[in-house]
Amino acid sequence: MALEDIIKIFIKLSNSIKIYHMNNIVLFGPPGAGKGTQSERLIERYHLTHISTGDLFRNHFSEGTKLGSLAKKYMDEGHLVPDEVVVGMVDEKINSTPDGSGFIFDGFPRTVHQAEALDKLLKAKSFPIRTMLMLDVPEEELINRLLERGKTSGRTDDQNEEKIRTRIRVYEKETLPVANYYKSQGKLNKIPGVGKIDEIFKRLCSVLDSE
Ligand code: AMP
Repeated sequence: MALEDIIKIFIKLSNSIKIYHMNNIVLFGPPGAGKGTQSERLIERYHLTHISTGDLFRNHFSEGTKLGSLAKKYMDEGHLVPDEVVVGMVDEKINSTPDGSGFIFDGFPRTVHQAEALDKLLKAKSFPIRTMLMLDVPEEELINRLLERGKTSGRTDDQNEEKIRTRIRVYEKETLPVANYYKSQGKLNKIPGVGKIDEIFKRLCSVLDSE
């Protein structure tokens, strides 16, 4: 066997080992579903790198970048930031993060176009999305949670019921189709997102540990 073939086999093998150890997870659900809270716990348990596009935009805004002020206009209205802006930012974040145990994507992808772009980005790195965890929470509970969070979080988009309802409508129209995208790849897992934080966390872990 030529040395070149041996090298090719070695690269293939090391990529499969990497895939086996990588836990790239999409944590999905409407605003107020508990993605941020559960992410914190999942990161600790599975040693993941957190990519929350909402947090990245808020960081940009507080650092006074152009990207931050562009995103703020959409965020204030409860609308989505354009796909190319979001995907560019995620691309940069993935590529500037050293290889670890995997990423947990929180609040991303929010459109089918973003999901397709994420698959392409991860394909280039040879570690695909392993699973999508979708937190299921009734609308009235979401509104109560967000209004409650708005009292202390300082997030203006959480302080106005009308804006919250707009965000939920945007989720239903533009983001829910992303669930079907992952369903067609056999990666969708729906988890009831109501109950004690610990109970919901256990549900998420049991899906991840059983795979
Ligand atoms: P979040 O912190 O995930 O609730 O996001 C807050 C706001 O940031 C959203 O209402 C959108 O305006 C914007 N945003 C966050 N992530 C995305 C995304 N993946 N695509 C488009 N807009 C986003």
